[in-house]
Amino acid sequence: MKILTVVGARPQFIKVAPVSLAIAAVPGVSEVLVHTGQHFDANMSDVFFDELGIAAPRYNLGIGGGTHGQNTGRMIEGLERLMIEEKPDWVLVYGDTDSTLAGALAAVKLHVRVAHVEAGLRSYNMVMPEEVNRRVTDHVSTLLFTPSAHASTILRGEGIADDRVLNVGDVMYDAARLFGGRATQRSELLARFGVTAGDYVLATIHRQENTDDPVRLAAIFDALGRSGRPIVLPLHPRTRNSLARAAITPAANIVVTEPLGYLDMNALESAAALIATDSGGVQKEAYFHRVPCITLRDETEWVELIDLGWNRLARPGADDLAAILQSSPARGRDDVMPYGDGAAAVKIVDALVERTR
Ligand code: UDP
Repeated sequence: MKILTVVGARPQFIKVAPVSLAIAAVPGVSEVLVHTGQHFDANMSDVFFDELGIAAPRYNLGIGGGTHGQNTGRMIEGLERLMIEEKPDWVLVYGDTDSTLAGALAAVKLHVRVAHVEAGLRSYNMVMPEEVNRRVTDHVSTLLFTPSAHASTILRGEGIADDRVLNVGDVMYDAARLFGGRATQRSELLARFGVTAGDYVLATIHRQENTDDPVRLAAIFDALGRSGRPIVLPLHPRTRNSLARAAITPAANIVVTEPLGYLDMNALESAAALIATDSGGVQKEAYFHRVPCITLRDETEWVELIDLGWNRLARPGADDLAAILQSSPARGRDDVMPYGDGAAAVKIVDALVERTR
């Protein structure tokens, strides 16, 4: 059995790591890894392959830097060619990026079965490119692997047949369990940023709705500055460009750093007093480390974390972000675990094998 896996962006390298390991452990199953090139900087791509032991991609399409339409179109063309050549039994796609959508569309048109990891997430905000990508991908997939019971319920509500939806748990939880323990020397890392464990905010900002709206971006950076708290901010390249364009200079309490590797990032997450982010993955990792989180968005797909009390929304431009950042956040409930048992990857591979027979 052959699986052709499509990845392209940072969160996908993290999600693919446990699944690739699980595929490699099954005799007779091979994986062809295709990198679309969407994220190409060493610190947005290579570092994850090195740290998480992911095999080098068999193909790299080198596609990035264009508009959503340009990138998606070029990816579909490149992926279609590879799928015709490689004749996979399954195309495996992750999450909600343009690479996900391109992989799914190329495959379904060739009548190759598509399996979507992290299916069933919804923000109900079609302005987000991610929402469009995930909705279309879900509806052309043969098999939909959801991270939670809630995501499965959403898919059923959209009319997707029960036997195509499998709640396997969240592969990012698998990754946290597999690789989190390997984290870097925390004390050295904190010293590098001049912060003390339990006394700083870790922030990440990269969603288009925040970076491409100068008013929201200014509101976020104004609040981070006015909070007066020590803040470490690993800066996404898109946000770096937007800050330059909007002529916003982060205040002195914000330690700005290049994007970090997974191990450093998780070490910093685990020692933070509070995490402030618009990232999907970082919201969940905050919870995996049991660190309170505020989400700098108008809505979140990871509603379980709000329900459990570990996360709260802080809407840029609408809520008083500075006051929320200054308040001592409550810890959430700890009696239920909504994202599975850390064995999502094995369940995914088992299901693919099972359904190929
Ligand atoms: N991440 C990282 N270095 C950073 C920022 C994030 O390794 O400087 C990791 C983070 O730990 C998580 C993933 O990237 O595993 C989340 O990806 P991202 O925020 O880019 O995308 P999203 O999850 O919002 O799709």
